[in-house]
Formats: sequence, structure tokens, C-alpha cells
Amino acid sequence: MDFNFSEQEKMLQKMARDFAIKSVRPLAAEIDSSGQFPSALAKEIGKRGYQGLPYPAQCGGSGVGYLGYALVLEQLCQASMTVGAIMAINTVPQEAIFRFGSEQQKQAFLSPLARGELLGGIAFTEAETGSDPKDITAASKKNGDGYVITGQKQFVALAPVADLLLVFARGEGKGLNAFIIDTSSDGYNVREPCQTMGLRGLGTSVVYLDEVYVPWQNLIGKEGQGFEILLEAISLGRLGVAVEGIAVAQAALEFSLGYARQRKASGRPIAQLPTIQWHLAEMASRIEAGRWLVYRTAFLRDQGLDIKYESSVAKLFASQVAVEVTRMAMQVGGSYGTMKTMEVERLYRDAKMTEIYVGVSEIQRNIIAEHLIE
Ligand SMILES: Cc1cc2nc3c(=O)[nH]c(=O)nc-3n(C[C@H](O)[C@H](O)[C@H](O)COP(=O)(O)OP(=O)(O)OC[C@H]3O[C@@H](n4cnc5c(N)ncnc54)[C@H](O)[C@@H]3O)c2cc1C
Repeated sequence: MDFNFSEQEKMLQKMARDFAIKSVRPLAAEIDSSGQFPSALAKEIGKRGYQGLPYPAQCGGSGVGYLGYALVLEQLCQASMTVGAIMAINTVPQEAIFRFGSEQQKQAFLSPLARGELLGGIAFTEAETGSDPKDITAASKKNGDGYVITGQKQFVALAPVADLLLVFARGEGKGLNAFIIDTSSDGYNVREPCQTMGLRGLGTSVVYLDEVYVPWQNLIGKEGQGFEILLEAISLGRLGVAVEGIAVAQAALEFSLGYARQRKASGRPIAQLPTIQWHLAEMASRIEAGRWLVYRTAFLRDQGLDIKYESSVAKLFASQVAVEVTRMAMQVGGSYGTMKTMEVERLYRDAKMTEIYVGVSEIQRNIIAEHLIE
């Protein structure tokens, strides 16, 4: 692995940073406090070509690969984890279509998603399960030239605004089927977004699928291949959350550095206290370690390799980094850090989400341990 970025990657990173600082960061607190989905920003990241970064131009993408995707996502999430998560979630159905879809499905679904013309999400979690696909109860039944899907999906990010959803439902035979559902279909109903502690404004909602008709052309892969598709697509989802964790941690470190330089105790900046310096050094070293783990995972995907194990390791570690680093940043901020008006209070809440969504840490440990002992 080359640890030096190409000129193109450096340029991509710089442009994303400039955009994030100028256009995303000023809106981050408002998105968090209002809980409103930032529609204009979502359109803007599409126009900039950020919605299909890993995929080739013939699929509507920007063709900068998974490392390019990680570099841009990191900059967006440093400004607002919600805004970055919109891009990361929209990429998950694209990954499924890119790996398993037919040419016709790539043109019909992947291209408009990658170009930012449509927005997509993934619906896997149900009321009774978020961790075990064996417990999925949403059902798909053959009906004429297509399927009818019935079930309830929980915590579906982007649900009120998505045009398409990658939905997993039990087939009539063994196993899961993966479908692209058009959210304008009859029987697709969304409840009010859930009031989550972090990642606010993502439109995370309960979705009811009440006999939603899906043409056979929307079945991704083969019947019964849904579990395999889920594992592939979700490994990119895990890489995305790992990037989110590192970005939030970096934002917390930058907050802490700024605060520690200007806040005085006994007449001198707290940055001069060994205890504060200890926190800053711990934060920086954990972020460095996590960041390279994340970049390496993206690099491996660019080599066409499977990243199921690596993305679990990266998500587990990066989410721990996010939680630990934001906890230390709160400590540096003292009482001021706990105030709603301080950026670090939002970072602390967003950080916790990375240990939960797209697979809790316990599931990541299960995946890692199974890989080690197989
Ligand atoms: C903001 C947000 C956005 C989300 N977006 C989406 C989305 O777009 N699409 C989607 O499908 N889902 C989404 N989710 C759902 C999320 O991915 C799941 O909630 C998550 O995977 C955990 O599932 P659960 O809540 O059912 O936890 P459970 O499976 O009920 O687990 C609860 C706890 O039990 C323990 N546990 C459970 N199973 C095991 C096991 N096998 N081994 C060890 N311990 C275990 C763990 O400690 C775990 O934390 C989102 C959630 C949030 C909060």
C-alpha cells in the first residue's frame, strides 16, 4: 500500500474540505437541533458528484474508488455527521446493485443514484431484529410478473425522502430476497422520524410495506441470494460508519485544541496542563491508528478484495475511537462542553451512534471472532 495520496486524491480531499467548511459546517447545529432533513445540501452533494464516488462513469459514478469515497466522506462528517451519513447510506444500495445487479438494473437504479438524481436507502432492521437476518419476517410472495412484499421495517434512514429502498424480505422458498422498492408505490407508508439522540435529521423512520407490488425486474441477484447481497452491501456500510467515527473524533480533537488554547486556569491556558496534554495526545494517537485502518479497508476494496472482516475491524475500532475521543473532549471542555450551544455536545451524541447502527459492536466482535477461528 502506498501511504502517499495521488494528486487527484489530494485535490478531492481539499475540495471536499473547502465545501464542508463553507457549506456544511454552518448548518450542522441547525440540522441537529431541528432534526430536519437537509434537502438542499443533499441535492448539492449529488451535484458535486459525491453520491456515486466509488463507481465508474458508465454507472453514473465519479470513478474515484473507495479510498476517494472515504476521503470525501471524512471531510463531510467532520462538518456534520448527518450530512456525511446521507452520502454513506445512499451508497449502500448502489453497492448491492453494482455487485449483483443486471446491466438493466445498473442503468435504471445505480446510475441515477450515483448521479444524485435519486436518493436511496436500505431497509433491513425490523421491530424484532436488527442483528440477526434469520429473524426477518417481512415476506415476499410471487404475484403475476412480480412480487408482493408485506412487512414492517424499523429505523430506516432517509425513509421519508428516499426514492428507492433496498429491502430484504423472506422468499417463499429458503432464504432472503433483495428488492429495489420504488417509494412512490402503493402500500409504502412512513411514520414520523424517530427522535434519536444523534444523527438527527437523517429521517430515520418506521416503514410499513403493505402489499407493495414490485416487478420482477427489481429483484437484485437471484431468489434466495439476499443474505449474500446484504453481507456485501453492509460491509461498505460498515466502512462508511468507520469513516464517520474517525471524522467525529477529529472534529472533537480540533474543538479541544482550540478550547484548551484559549481557556485559562490559574492564569494560564489549560493547554499547558499535563492532564489536558495527556488527553490531547491520547486523542491524536487513537485517531491516527483508526484513520489508517479505515483507509486500508477502502484501499483493499479498491483492489477488488472482500472486506467483510476488515470493515468489521474498522467499524469496531473507529466507533470506540469516536466514543472515547469525544468523551475526552467533553472532559477538556468542562461544564462548557456539556452545553447544547457547544459543538462537542453534538459530537458526543453522534459518536455513540457509530457503536450502534449498521451492526452493534457485539455483532462486529462476533464477525471478527468467527473469521479468526474458522
Ligand atoms: C440513526 C439510525 C439509523 C439507522 N439506519 C438504518 C437503516 O437505514 N436501515 C436499517 O435496516 N437499519 C437501520 N438502523 C438500525 C440499526 O442498524 C439496528 O438498530 C442495529 O443494527 C441494532 O439492532 P437492534 O436495535 O435490533 O439491536 P438488537 O439486535 O436488539 O440488539 C440489542 C443488544 O443486544 C445484544 N445482542 C443482540 N444480538 C447479539 C448477538 N448475536 N451477539 C451478542 N450480542 C447481541 C447487543 O448488546 C445489542 O446491542 C438504524 C439505527 C439508527 C439508530
